[in-house]
Amino acid sequence: MRYLIILALALINFHLFAQHDHDHKRPIVFPDIPGYKTLKCDFHQHTVFSDGSVWPNIRVQEALKDGLDAISITDHIEYQPHIDDIPHPDRNRSYQIAKEEAKNKDLIVIRGSEVTRSMPPGHTNAIFIQDANKLFISDSIAVFKEAKDQGAFIFWNHPNWTAQIPSGMASVTETHKHLIKEGLLHGIEVVNDVTYSDEAIQIALDYNLTMIGTSDIHGLIDWQYHVPHGGHRPVTLVFAKDKSEAGIKEGLVNRRTAVWFNNTLIGRPEYLVPLIEQSVTVASATYKSKTSVLLVSLENVSDADFIMENMTDYTFHRNADVFTIEANTITDIEIKTIEKLEGVKLKLKVLNAVTAPKTHPEIIWDVKVE
Ligand SMILES: [Zn+2]
Ligand SMILES: [Zn+2]
Repeated sequence: MRYLIILALALINFHLFAQHDHDHKRPIVFPDIPGYKTLKCDFHQHTVFSDGSVWPNIRVQEALKDGLDAISITDHIEYQPHIDDIPHPDRNRSYQIAKEEAKNKDLIVIRGSEVTRSMPPGHTNAIFIQDANKLFISDSIAVFKEAKDQGAFIFWNHPNWTAQIPSGMASVTETHKHLIKEGLLHGIEVVNDVTYSDEAIQIALDYNLTMIGTSDIHGLIDWQYHVPHGGHRPVTLVFAKDKSEAGIKEGLVNRRTAVWFNNTLIGRPEYLVPLIEQSVTVASATYKSKTSVLLVSLENVSDADFIMENMTDYTFHRNADVFTIEANTITDIEIKTIEKLEGVKLKLKVLNAVTAPKTHPEIIWDVKVE
């Protein structure tokens, strides 16, 4: 009897583990899209060299575990709560230490800084800079000009931050309009840490800014995002011509991004739709014998659990009109086509993909019956 109980417990245990483990491995996985590599990047992170809690080498190790292609460590230039314990006259130190740690590893480390101002303009990140020390400028416009002169890509951090905007409603001020007009502001965080902003997405669309999503991590990625137990950090997916620092910058400047956040994909449809099309493909489609029920196997090679809504006139034999295509696996659906057809246009609305506030792309899969 005792052995039976142990066996039963072991089976229950195995089942729980199997359920959790089969689809979400730690490295973040998304396929390339036609013409571009899909690079996973986190451009906003802190260390003890500003108000973070870890040494820069830990940021590199976390990124390698998460399978990232690029990171930027963006310590605050001005806000330095640890300066008495860790005096460092050179604001490039966290970058240098991370760069050294990443040597001979498959990770690009981009030099960056967080320019820390009250609203407006609020906080911004300047990445691809040459020398962080030269950004120690109190005038808000002058600091952006210096960053631009260094070749920076500059984005607006957490425009929805309730410490600066108690309503959480991101909105553009005259200062931001001026910066955008002068070519001194190129992107905006639509996701920061555990927050998401429909208003920031709308600002990105209205002002032609690049959509960015970042962890803004201060502690540990694992603790903040429930990794490796199914959670993941927010990342910006950059669609780049090649995997290089220059390739990432070119992709950012040309707004070729999507944001992966809390099992949600956010981005312009011209990149989000191909990303979903490459992620989910029809593996097979056959009629079950003597029936007009079409068995369609959908293979998902991405880390997203896609939540789909049936937009066809058909009803399904296994699912209601809303169903999930799980990450990194094959999901079978059964379509009742009433008569046997040579093919079906499977039109699905992707509920956990966002192309504009409250807007989800509808994608058609051309299913050919074998
Ligand atoms: Zn900030
Ligand atoms: Zn920050």
